[in-house]
Amino acid sequence: MQATADHALERAWEVLESVPDPEIPVVSIRELGILRDVRRAADGQIEVVITPTYSGCPAMSQIAEDVAHALDVAELAPYRIATTLAPAWTTDWITDAAREKLRAYGIAPPTGNCGSHGGSAGQAAEQPITFMPKPLPAPACPHCGSPHTERLAQFGSTACKALYRCLDCREPFDYFKPY
Ligand SMILES: [Zn+2]
Repeated sequence: MQATADHALERAWEVLESVPDPEIPVVSIRELGILRDVRRAADGQIEVVITPTYSGCPAMSQIAEDVAHALDVAELAPYRIATTLAPAWTTDWITDAAREKLRAYGIAPPTGNCGSHGGSAGQAAEQPITFMPKPLPAPACPHCGSPHTERLAQFGSTACKALYRCLDCREPFDYFKPY
C-alpha cells in the first residue's frame, strides 16, 4: 500500500503544479506560492495545503475548485483541501520564473521585498491582514521598461493589483502589489 500511496502523492504534485492562477493564467498556483504542500493526512487522505494571497481575494474559492477539479480528473479522490494563513503569503514567494512570465503577460511583478518577512524560514507570526498604507515604489513599465509610470487607481482588475500607466509609451498596466 505504501508504494501506491507515494505514487498518488507524486501524481497529485504533478497535476497541481500545472493548475494556473485563475486571474493570471500564465503562471501556476505553484509558481505564485499559493500551493504550499501536498501530503498525507493522518487518516491517509491526500491533503492539499493552499495559502490565500490577499485577504478576501475572490480567486481563492476558484483556486480551491480548480485544485479539486484537477485531482478529480486525475482520479486521486478522496482528498481534502486545507487553507493555512501562517506563515502569511507574501509576494516574495513568487518564483523568479513566474515574475518573468508576469512581465511578459503585461503585469509588472512586485518589486522589492516585503519588509516584515526578511526570508527567515519558519517565521509564522500572526499578522493582521490589512492593506499596508506604505508608499509603493513606482514599478517599471512591463511593456517598454520605462521607470516613468504613474498610478491611476489603488485597485486594478482585482484587489491584488493596482492600475498604472506608463508615461512614455502611454500603455496602462496592472501592477502586482508587493505584500
Ligand atoms: Zn511603457
